Parts: sequence; structure tokens; C-alpha cells
Amino acid sequence: MPIGKQIIITGAIQGVGFRPFVYNIARQLDIVGEVYNDSAGVIIIVQCTNSQLNLLLSSLENNTPVLATITNIKIEEVQFDGYVDFSITQSRGGKVATLVLPDACICNDCINDITNKNNRRYGYAFTNCTNCGPRFSIIKKMPYDRQSTSMAPFMMCQKCVQEYQNPNNRRFHAQPNACHHCGPQLQLTDSAGKDIACNDIIVKTATLLKQGKIIAIKGIGGFHLACLANIESTIATLRKRKHRAHKPFALMAKDITTIKKYCQVSPQEENLLTNSASPIVLLKIDNNTLPSQIAPKQKKLGFMLPYTPLHYLLLQQLDTPLLLTSGNKSCNPQITNNQQALQELEGVADYFLMHNRDIINRVDDSVVQFSTDKAQMIRRARGYAPTALPLPNGFENCQGLLAVGAELKNTFCLMTQSNALISQHIGDLKTLESYQDFEYNIDLYQRLYMTPIQHLVADLHPDYLSSKYADNYAQTHDIKLDTVAHHHAHIAACLFENGRTINSKKVLGVVWDGMGLGADNSLWGGEFLLADYSSFSRLAHFEYTPLLGGDKAQNEPWRMAYAYCKQYQISASAYFSGKPTTEFDALLNSDLVLNNTSSVGRLFDAVAYLLGICSHKISYEAQAAIELENMASACLNFDAQPTYEFELKQAKNHTHIDSKKLWIAILKDLENQVKREDIAYRFHLSLAQLLVEVVLQFKQTHPFDTVVLSGGVFHNQLLSTQISALFANIDNITLLTHSKLPCGDGSISLGQAAICIAKEKKYG
Ligand code: ZN
Ligand code: ZN
Ligand code: FE
Repeated sequence: MPIGKQIIITGAIQGVGFRPFVYNIARQLDIVGEVYNDSAGVIIIVQCTNSQLNLLLSSLENNTPVLATITNIKIEEVQFDGYVDFSITQSRGGKVATLVLPDACICNDCINDITNKNNRRYGYAFTNCTNCGPRFSIIKKMPYDRQSTSMAPFMMCQKCVQEYQNPNNRRFHAQPNACHHCGPQLQLTDSAGKDIACNDIIVKTATLLKQGKIIAIKGIGGFHLACLANIESTIATLRKRKHRAHKPFALMAKDITTIKKYCQVSPQEENLLTNSASPIVLLKIDNNTLPSQIAPKQKKLGFMLPYTPLHYLLLQQLDTPLLLTSGNKSCNPQITNNQQALQELEGVADYFLMHNRDIINRVDDSVVQFSTDKAQMIRRARGYAPTALPLPNGFENCQGLLAVGAELKNTFCLMTQSNALISQHIGDLKTLESYQDFEYNIDLYQRLYMTPIQHLVADLHPDYLSSKYADNYAQTHDIKLDTVAHHHAHIAACLFENGRTINSKKVLGVVWDGMGLGADNSLWGGEFLLADYSSFSRLAHFEYTPLLGGDKAQNEPWRMAYAYCKQYQISASAYFSGKPTTEFDALLNSDLVLNNTSSVGRLFDAVAYLLGICSHKISYEAQAAIELENMASACLNFDAQPTYEFELKQAKNHTHIDSKKLWIAILKDLENQVKREDIAYRFHLSLAQLLVEVVLQFKQTHPFDTVVLSGGVFHNQLLSTQISALFANIDNITLLTHSKLPCGDGSISLGQAAICIAKEKKYG
């Protein structure tokens, strides 16, 4: 006897060819009924036997279209009018519960279209289909249809309409569908905005690049500045014009084979390069034939593959990789608008390759690396955001909670009924444009998901611009505001990302990062905290060291090195000749209260300085630590390296980690002319061993079975690898690390939200 069922599917399922997918399976199975989009998701009504229903359900779950993610399937009995066939019917409205999709890189079918001379999209730079193309970057509001995107001004031609309306076509309901005749067009201008006359804009652009020109190229989520990666003088010019002294540039190569000419690419790394997010993947340099200026003092290069048809067509014309960096001046976010690009990049770019499809939402390129056994997100943006994280048990029904995140590498997190939405990387809120982006996106996410803010949570640090925003918003809207300690948020984010339920047991969280405000008003950053979602206690931390010169101590590593030497009464004046140390001697001898930090990030800076790294100052965040890791990676006989000792001292209610012995030993090694690569390696290994030693010591007195690693220091691939290797030999401890979110401050917002909910629901 046939049965009548309604199947309600939720997840990222609109605009990805889901209905035609259902339609085709239903037809094959001889099922009658209908499928339509609803604000709750996709609704399928079927009249069929139980075995047909089971076949339908297993196909739905096993052959889902590439960009679709099903989060839930609910089945109900329904009454309905007799169907005679299966059809796709009109969308119905109501409250939106579907997810906005991230932008996806061009698919292989579309690549075939644009490279096939007989195809009507041959050479068309805005080709897309339901399996690929822009999504988040072009959307203004939900539901996702053409009128809600920056494709609204383009009227589809007859041929495009036919594709759009045909359920058997790959472009059925592909909202940005377009072709040469009806869609967006390229424009190539000089720096004054005057059109360059040419037959083929792509070929002309490639010619200009080969002549050593710098070209501003409008991509999916913003402008890039591009030049050829093998022309040293152009790269030097770009660095000068952009005021970017050392920070590595990214590269785009036409295919994996080209990337393999320069870097090692493991199968896992190849998967990352070719997934639909198409991120920048940091890869070990194999054969350094490209100018070192691309990534000075690095052992890795950041490569990505062409992710839009425009990039693909351009790269086809080039045999060398294209160097790409975000189109902006110094540390501002990427420019998204044509006029603004012409104005602000005047004098930086020689030419502008633009188009008339507006970028509505800025999204930077994502950056990932493969570390030990999984992908590690470094910057989560294009292709990943706004993918939602599922809620571990207990976190349901907290919609409207907004966590505003940290100040640097900011993201925010908005809780909806069934998801945690973590924004794309927004960046350093201290730059005006990023701050405006932060405000704009908070508003956008509320609109897209119809989830107004009802409750706020911010970092304990009152001076973070995100905290100030939350404070102001809470006051003007009369909304509750909670605050959360930075390092607790790091741990909670990692627990949440790994699916730990709201009532899970206490874990030992090891949080090593730059600096964040601690409960005692000092700047923490080298912490061992026993924590669950709702509370934490501090078991150990690195000994406090004064920050000499406040903020300057972060940018001038010698200041930290000097502070350690003074603190441990080690005389190393030879290392500080020419530095204004006398003023600090006076300061340290005075009664003035200095800011103190337990930061491992700062310890890295200080050790890097002793080894000759960044002896003047850093020119980008974490430069000294990154260069120290690179130096250590060049150590050849790493099996034979001894380690340095730390001393654990019992203080009132927790343990202090004293690094005096480490300093003495490093200085002695330097005196004995031990290779700097070896010293750098020893330092890494010593920290890894210390971490494990402290964990095992606390294991004897505290009943935890999980160790969480979080904080920006763990982006250090060498250190993370050494730590996991050591944990591999330890039974009955589970090691939790970040993968979907960065271990740095990009995950703070999620942690804030999780802690706030757990406290609210009175867990712990
Ligand atoms: Zn496609
Ligand atoms: Zn058309
Ligand atoms: Fe942090």
C-alpha cells in the first residue's frame, strides 16, 4: 500500500541543484509527488511504498550534490491530493532557516565550457552553475534568488533562461547564471580609469603582466594586486608601493603540476588545494627557484589554484605562477569597489582588471596548512564562511546570542536556533575599514538569518574595540552583556569545535598565545587551565615578565629579550649594544608598576632576537616567531638535539614555569657557536617536552582525560608536530586541537558564545 510522507530537509541545500537532484531520483524510482523550496529548507512530498522511500532516503544521503550539506531530515505522515507524476513546484515563503552558502571555486564542467571553442561560454569569465560560483560574496538578503544578489541588474538572455528553467540542466536555478550576451563584462583600464583598447582583455592582461606590470584584479571577495612571480624587480616595486616589507605574498598557479615544481604537495595537501573552497595552502618549498622576495626567510609558500573562471582563463596564458596579495594599502581590508580601487590603488597598480558584477560582501582568501594528521585553518574566510558549525548537545535554542570576538584577527559568532555561525575573518578592528566591516557584517548576518541580537558576550578586555562595540550596543538597545576571559574562550572554542557536549567533564587546556587579559589583570599567554565550558582554574603559567615600553614590546623583540635577561639577572649586554637599555634599567629599578605577561608568544620573540631574527623590529604580526620556526625547520640532525630545562616552582595556588635555565643554556650555546638552526630546534623541542611534562604532572592530581591545545602559538607546525608525537606515546589522554577554526583569536568568538550559554544554562 503506497504511503504519503512529507520529508523536510534542512542544511545548505538551496541554490546547489538539490531539487533537480531529488526530482531525478524520484523519477528513476517511479515515485510520485513534488519537491519545493520552503523557508525551512527543501520539502519533498512523496506517495510511494516503504521500500521506495528507503531507496529515496539512502540516495539523498549518499549522492548529495557537491555543494550541499544536509543537517537534518525529518519525516512526517501527510494527507495529500493524488499525484500522477513527480514535479518541482513553486517555492513557498515563511521564516528562513536555510543556510547561506560560501563561494565555491569553478567546477570541472564549467572549466570544460570555457575552454571548449564550440561552447557558447568559451572564454567567458563569469561562467558558473549550481555546482560552483559566487554565493556569499554577492548576496544581499535571503531567500537566495537572483533578485537578492548583485546579479539582479543582469537580465538573462533566452538561452540562459532555458537552462535556468530546465531541471535536467546543470544551471537549473543557478542564480548567478550568465553568458557573454547577458552577463557581467570585463574591463581593463589604465591607472586613470581609461579603457585599454584590445581584442582580448585576458590576453592583453597576460601581456602586461609579462612586461612586469602590477595589475589590480577584481576577484570574488575583493581586489588583489597581481604581478608575475618570477620578475624580481616588480615584486620589489610592489613591496615598496604597498609598504609591505616582509610579509609573505600568496601565489596562484595554473595547476597542481606547476605547484609541484616549487613545493612538496602531499595527497592531503592536494585535497585542500582542490576542494571547493580553494584556499591558500601553505606548502614546504622544494625547489627554490622563485625570488626569495615573495616570502623572505620562509620555508613555505602559500599556493592556491585559480578559483574563478577569470583567474582560470588568465592563468592559462601564463607559465609562471601569479603573485597575489590583497588589494589595499598596507593593513586595510581588501577593496571591493571599482571606483574605490581606482582611487586608493592609484600609484600602486599600473592597470586595473575589473568587471561590473558588484561584490556585496568582502571575503578574503582563506589560508590553511596540513599539520600532523589534519587540516589546520589559519584564516577562515572565502569558501568556508559562512558555513555553520553544528551545535553539540545542550547548546540548542540560544538564538540571538552574539559573541563579538577579540580585537585582532576578529570574527564574531551569531547563534541561531540550530547553528553557530562564525563570521569570515574580519581582521584587525583598529583599522577603520575593518571596524566598519565588523559592524556591517553583524548587521548582515542578523538579516540573512533573521536572527536579531538578544544577548551579547565580549572579551574581558574592556579596551578591545569589539568589547566597546558590545558595551555600546548593550546600552543603547537595553540588552544583557556578559564578559568572558580570553584564554577560557580559547579552550571552549576547541571543545565546541570538537563536538563536546555542554556538560562534558573538565579538561586540561593549554593556551599559548600572544596576549590576552587574565583574571588578575595581567596579560596571560602561557597557561595551563583546568576548565569546562562554564568555569576554569589556573594550574600553571609561565612566569611573568615585564613588557618594556608597553605596545612597543610586541613589535620590537629585543625589548622582551632584555626583560628576560634583567629578570633572571643574566648579563648579556653584548646582545643589546646600541639599544636604549639604560632607560629600562631605571624603569626596572623604580617603584613603577609595569605590565606583566606570561605569554609564550613573547618568549618566542625574545629567543628569536637572541638568534639574530628581527633585530630592529617586526613588520607583521608574529614575524619573529614564524622566522624562528623556519630557522628551526632547517636544523639537519634533529634526532641528536638535546633540550633545555625549565624549572617548575610551586607558588601559592599554582605552578610557575621559570625559564632562567633556558636563557642561560641558550646564551651558552651561542657562546659555543652551536648552529642557530640547532638552538632554534632545541627551543621548540624543549617547549614540547615541557608541555607534556606539566600535563603528566597534573594528571596525577587531577582527573582529566583530555588535553586541549589552543592559542596562536600552535599555528607553529613544528611545535604542534613535536607535541602530537610526544602524546602519541601516552595512553589514556585524548588530545584535542583545532581544525575547522584557527587556533588563534579567530576562534575566540565561538568560545565566548559557548561559555556564555553554559553559564546561562547553569552547567558546571
Ligand atoms: Zn560549474
Ligand atoms: Zn545569457
Ligand atoms: Fe588569543
